Amino acid sequence: MRDVIIIGSGCAGNTAAVYAARANLKPLVVAGHEPGGQLSITTLVENFPGFPEGVDGPVLVENIKKQAEHFGAEYLHGSVVEADLSKRPFRLLIDNEWHETRTLIVASGASARWLNLPSEQKLIGHGVSSCATCDGFFYRGKKIMVIGGGDTAMEEANFLTRFGEEITIVHRREEFRASKIMLDRARNNPKIKFLTNTVVDEVHDVEKKIVTSVKLRNWRTNETWKRDVDGFFVAIGHIPNTAAFLGQLDLDPDGYVISHGGAKTNIQGVFHAGDVQDRVYRQAITAAGAGCMAAIEVERFLEAEGH
Ligand SMILES: Cc1cc2nc3c(=O)[nH]c(=O)nc-3n(C[C@H](O)[C@H](O)[C@H](O)COP(=O)(O)OP(=O)(O)OC[C@H]3O[C@@H](n4cnc5c(N)ncnc54)[C@H](O)[C@@H]3O)c2cc1C
Repeated sequence: MRDVIIIGSGCAGNTAAVYAARANLKPLVVAGHEPGGQLSITTLVENFPGFPEGVDGPVLVENIKKQAEHFGAEYLHGSVVEADLSKRPFRLLIDNEWHETRTLIVASGASARWLNLPSEQKLIGHGVSSCATCDGFFYRGKKIMVIGGGDTAMEEANFLTRFGEEITIVHRREEFRASKIMLDRARNNPKIKFLTNTVVDEVHDVEKKIVTSVKLRNWRTNETWKRDVDGFFVAIGHIPNTAAFLGQLDLDPDGYVISHGGAKTNIQGVFHAGDVQDRVYRQAITAAGAGCMAAIEVERFLEAEGH
């Protein structure tokens, strides 16, 4: 029986582990399908406080893990595939084995939706991004492409006009899902151009390990062409990793955990941290802060129960 199990080893989970371990709770961190979380697939992170020269994403998250281990956190490779939160202790099926815990921190993140082109996947962190706030700064005076037709795509495109020389929104349909106000804002921005009925077939140049151009196709006419681009931002949404908690945790229609104040969920003893609950900020620092909050809540919860 554990005092606390932390699901996820991204910024949120690892920071929760530092705090829980220093509170002597010997947390077990379940690393999941993506040990280190989203930062493990990026390169330079320039906006995490404390690193004037920036820091490599994988190094940053690995360092938080080492810090947690230093204070006694344990890490388990595997994923939570099923959870029984109907009574305490909570039970989690991690790969093939059930584990019991008094409290739980859900820090399982939200994975960016990608186009899933092999070339796109190979260039993540090398010109392909899913986060304008994170990476826009690298594309000052450059050509930027944003993929998507919803509010996120419009917001990212508008934000990127602060940096890019020209921003092209590529959308596979004629109509946009984006709200009128967001769409109008993008349409009225002289730096933003639109390409509709257009899909991306390939991102170049995998060999050079940097984005140089894309192959586009109008799916109505089948016309294909190449377009030079330096930054390729995919803004087609995120998928919160909450499948194991369906029907137990309060989730919004997109699957994000609904907060019941602070780090609390609808179930006493289960807390949330990071992008799994946050559809607004989605930053390493906010995830780390949320991990801290969840661990402090766990500590107080156990204390109040006399553990
Ligand atoms: C390419 C890219 C670049 C970015 N650059 C920056 C940047 O420069 N600055 C910045 O502040 N932010 C950046 N971000 C955003 C930042 O990475 C996220 O906001 C942050 O990682 C969120 O942390 P998290 O711990 O909440 O979730 P995540 O990092 O998503 O971690 C989730 C963890 O949960 C685990 N998990 C999922 N499901 C299960 C399960 N069923 N069982 C067990 N474990 C599970 C995963 O394996 C993973 O370890 C970037 C994101 C991306 C994708």
